[in-house]
Amino acid sequence: MTSSVNLLDFDLNGLAAYCETLGEKRFRATQLFRWIHQRGASDFSAMSDLAKSLREKLAGVAHVTALPVITQHESKDGTIKWLFDVGGGNAVEAVFIPEYADDGDDSVLDRGTLCVSSQAGCAVNCRFCSTGHQGFSRNLTTGEIVAQLWFAEHFLRRHLKTDQRVISNVVMMGMGEPLQNYSALVPALRTMLDDHGYGLSRRRVTVSTSGVVPMIDRLARDCPVALAVSLHAPDDVLRDHLVPLNRKYPLDELLTTCARYLEHAPRDFITFEYCMLDGVNDAPEQAQKLIDLVRRHAGEGLRCKFNLIPFNPFPESGLVRSPASRVQSFAKILSDAGIVTTVRKTRGDDIDAACGQLAGDVKDRTRVHERVARQRTVMLHQVGSAVVDANGKTS
Ligand code: SAH
Ligand code: SF4
Repeated sequence: MTSSVNLLDFDLNGLAAYCETLGEKRFRATQLFRWIHQRGASDFSAMSDLAKSLREKLAGVAHVTALPVITQHESKDGTIKWLFDVGGGNAVEAVFIPEYADDGDDSVLDRGTLCVSSQAGCAVNCRFCSTGHQGFSRNLTTGEIVAQLWFAEHFLRRHLKTDQRVISNVVMMGMGEPLQNYSALVPALRTMLDDHGYGLSRRRVTVSTSGVVPMIDRLARDCPVALAVSLHAPDDVLRDHLVPLNRKYPLDELLTTCARYLEHAPRDFITFEYCMLDGVNDAPEQAQKLIDLVRRHAGEGLRCKFNLIPFNPFPESGLVRSPASRVQSFAKILSDAGIVTTVRKTRGDDIDAACGQLAGDVKDRTRVHERVARQRTVMLHQVGSAVVDANGKTS
């Protein structure tokens, strides 16, 4: 299987080009793409409307394979976290966050968000992020990014006993800096948006970035989806410390780029994420400085909302979550200035699935390695194999 191609690596154009190398027409690629992404199929012999000759050809040269699931945890609040093995002792996580609307006696799934990883580890090394503390291992491939959605969507349809779409929103807020893995990210986003793939609207796919300025401009041209920018500080001195990438792309340059992005974006605002750290970035004067900062860029067309994230502590950070009252006062100062501000609910923290807790108690790459090895062994005992595909089949 090593020399064979994983078809999860292709967006529809890529798959069409690949099918051409097999002497097949473009519409065959569309059929194949629909089987894979809309129906969760991985077995070519089951793709009944494809010519038998094509199915046999594909079976010899290609495969559709999800990432091995190391663990799956379900929180009391319905959040589900998967730890996937990406080889070489590395693991990445994806988290499903359901939101239910109460409909009389029944609760109906209103929105299903999947938080997806883009890298194993991260090179940006933000002070408050456990992924950053792990260091950088490697970029995920397009197939590894898409595999998280492919697996989760088709697993959840079976789990919730529905043939309707379950995942309505994707946020690139798992492990890694998506804009430092640009070439793999864009085909993955296109697969999410494609009507023959997951058919998600651009407004419901969000790339979250610590501020890789040139790549924000490229995303505007190549695949403008909703943009969230992790701000965390109202001035360069503090941001240089919290988000070291700020030394390369300082705040004014970043905010000017955000304003430019809005000319192409599917939403008319940028979401600024702000992780609330006790005594570090949560003072009322800092809220006022943030207001001044965004007002300075309003003339360029910058429109924004703030999402305040209560810090999820981990031991090595040496940082503490801001008290709820301080978060509320900070939010009020921003709101009173006319900036829409929300405070993020923490979800799934009983299973370490909250922001910045991804990778849970994993302290460094060596520990990831040990944990992957240990849990793989457990899986092998439980299901006879560590590989579970989207149809729940093990191989
Ligand atoms: N690298 C991208 C996307 C992944 S991080 C980025 O930085 O935007 C997703 C979000 O989780 C970011 O806003 C990040 O600042 C936040 N985050 C990271 N560590 C956190 C922690 N310990 N507590 C709360 N939020 C955290
Ligand atoms: Fe990387 Fe984002 Fe974590 Fe910063 S917050 S280290 S950019 S994953």
